Amino acid sequence: MPKDDWRHERAACLAQSRLLLVKVGSAVLSGPSGLDAAVMEGLATQLTLLRYIGGEQRSLVLVSSGAVAAGRAVLKAGGRNVENTGLAARQAAAAVGQGQLMRAWDRALRPHNMPTAQVLLTRDDLRARQRYLNVRNTFAELLQWGVLPIVNENDTVSVSELRFGDNDCLASLLLNLIGADVFINLTSAQGVLDGNPQKNAEARVMPCIEDVDRLDLAQLCGGKTTVGTGGMYSKLLAARRAAQIGVPTLILPGREPQVMLRAFAAAGLNALSAELEPFNGGTWVRPARHTIPRRKFWLAYQSEPGGVLQVDAGAAKALLEQGGSLLPGGVRGVEGSFQAGALVRVDFDGQALGVGLSNYGTAVLKKIMGRKRHEVAAILGDAHYPEVIHRDNLLLHAVV
Ligand code: GLU
Repeated sequence: MPKDDWRHERAACLAQSRLLLVKVGSAVLSGPSGLDAAVMEGLATQLTLLRYIGGEQRSLVLVSSGAVAAGRAVLKAGGRNVENTGLAARQAAAAVGQGQLMRAWDRALRPHNMPTAQVLLTRDDLRARQRYLNVRNTFAELLQWGVLPIVNENDTVSVSELRFGDNDCLASLLLNLIGADVFINLTSAQGVLDGNPQKNAEARVMPCIEDVDRLDLAQLCGGKTTVGTGGMYSKLLAARRAAQIGVPTLILPGREPQVMLRAFAAAGLNALSAELEPFNGGTWVRPARHTIPRRKFWLAYQSEPGGVLQVDAGAAKALLEQGGSLLPGGVRGVEGSFQAGALVRVDFDGQALGVGLSNYGTAVLKKIMGRKRHEVAAILGDAHYPEVIHRDNLLLHAVV
């Protein structure tokens, strides 16, 4: 394959995209005194034009951070500094700022006649299949109406086990839910650097990441930006998940004027009569060649794993090389306290192999681990599952 094949891929994917998910971080949207109206207006113009660029209708979903940053700014103006306080203060600041955030988007999008819808989600909303389907139906209806859904985490009700953690994670799960074909992640950086700029002044933006699964993220990503919670690490985790379902990610500098329109111009699609300088920068993260079924994606990422199963070498081989299920005999240790049906991580030799749904809770697992089939039957009786995790409920190489 020619080395610059990804350039064609980038142009073709942008040109052919029909459902874009655009995520914008707090560090792009806000300055020292809160939300930056000029930046939001610039983005609003771009989002509006992106819908019709190239003559085809394109649907858009926006994931927008900025509630906490907006809330903090309002509180600061009133003489209350909540910069470095704990989770409850963060949640309360989000409650103060979420209304501001939506108002600012509405104001920016009103001149373009683009109605908006606020969608606040927690992980729990996507965990229960029925709620997942409800959310999906709502998105489908909004998109059909030409409304722009603006999504954020429902910070007020999010406790640690219900949190997505950051909006990059939320966005990656939404890609699957809405069936997006391209993920545009707008950041405060120029793209993904090939080294830690604090340690290496020569670090350069990587124009393309061929295989995001093989990147050593810990080595690449030194720190996090201070305004949001994500940083490049979480952007690359999100890109990894996107790649697993065949969705490419374009990480762009969100404050660069007209950056999305110019990226489309570079793909041969020009917005109306605007003369735009094509933008080939940022980082393109290629989708995986072998994608996973969407149901597996959903089951693997709907919640944080509730525990860990350590397996032996034979089980690891059966899982990794033979497409097998995890049997009681291959389990060597159990960590955590979870019920039957929980999502758990499977480890071998200190390495995570994947995640899956356990047919057994901790108490039963402790009785049957390491046991042979007839021993398990003697302990549990005839009506039991032969597998601890069935292979249909297991995602190897999960991004956790
Ligand atoms: N939900 C948070 C907010 O709107 C942002 C989380 C994040 O930065 O990823 O401020």
